[in-house]
Amino acid sequence: MKITIIAGARPNFIKIAPIIKAIKSKQTEGENISFRLVHTGQHYDKNLSGTFFDELNIPFPNANLEVKSGTQAEQTAAIMVAFEKELIQNPCDYVLVVGDVNSTMACAIVSKKMNIKVIHVEAGIRSGDMTMPEEINRIVTDSITDIFFTTSTLAGKNLLKYGAKSDAIHFVGNVMIDTLHQNLNRISPPSFWHESTLEIGNYIILTLHRPSNVDEEKSLIDLLEGIDKMVGGRKIIFPIHPRTKAILRETNLNLKNIHFVEPQGYLNFMYLIKNSFAVITDSGGISEETTVLGIPCFTLRTTTERPETIEVGTNNLVGISIENLTLEFTKFLKNGLPQKGIPELWDGKSSERIIAILLKNHQKI
Ligand code: UDP
Repeated sequence: MKITIIAGARPNFIKIAPIIKAIKSKQTEGENISFRLVHTGQHYDKNLSGTFFDELNIPFPNANLEVKSGTQAEQTAAIMVAFEKELIQNPCDYVLVVGDVNSTMACAIVSKKMNIKVIHVEAGIRSGDMTMPEEINRIVTDSITDIFFTTSTLAGKNLLKYGAKSDAIHFVGNVMIDTLHQNLNRISPPSFWHESTLEIGNYIILTLHRPSNVDEEKSLIDLLEGIDKMVGGRKIIFPIHPRTKAILRETNLNLKNIHFVEPQGYLNFMYLIKNSFAVITDSGGISEETTVLGIPCFTLRTTTERPETIEVGTNNLVGISIENLTLEFTKFLKNGLPQKGIPELWDGKSSERIIAILLKNHQKI
């Protein structure tokens, strides 16, 4: 059984690491399973790519399509053209895509058109917000996926609504949380930790990269200044995404508490999250990690494709206005957060389930 695994962007690397580990473990048990790793080059910066391969022991990719940046269409098209060549030269039984980035959708389309079965990990999640490129990637990918692996029962229901067959849907939990479990004993403070006098449990982590928050420089500055005032003197560490950095040209900002740092490697970033007072973010993956770590999370978005992080976990969806964030944050300072839990099957064993199901399914063919 030959699987080509696709990874293009930071959240993908975190998701494929435990899947590859689970494949290798089956190989040592003598199972007939092999993989070829294709990096599309969507994220190519050391900070967003190379570091994750090193830290998470992801093998050096067998191929790098080196597509780099571009508009949505340029990037998607470049990945499709390059991946078609790759797949002609290196045929396989399945192409496995994760998440919802352009590489996910582009490679799924190419595979399906070459009659190669598509496996989608993190299938079926929906925000309902069609202005998000990720939502379009999710819908297109799932419409041509053959085997779906989901993080929640709701995701499975969404897929059924879109016409997927129930025996193709497997609720396995969350591979991002596998990575968290596998690396919690390796997390370590970043180099700036000691000189920055951060106190465990008393600082905030901020991340922003969604177009709705960062594409307009003026509103981004208003948001940052509002957050800076809101936190009552607590330090805020802001690992700034390259996309956000490119927009923020104004350097003379009136910020007392926010400290800009480079995007962090996984082990330093998880240390910062685990020991924080709270997190303010527009990331989907971070709201999953904070849920499992029990860290209060304020998501600066109007929708989420991960409602379990709110219903079961520590996530608060606060919209994109600073007024509402301030209101919700102040409530939290006063009342704290109710006792929260961990979503079903987010137990660190999802990748093992995925590989076991794939091997069983393949034997039936
Ligand atoms: N992350 C990291 N360093 C950072 C910011 C994020 O290691 O400085 C990790 C973190 O584990 C997070 C993942 O990258 O869950 C994906 O984050 P991102 O916000 O890029 O993607 P999204 O979850 O919004 O798709």
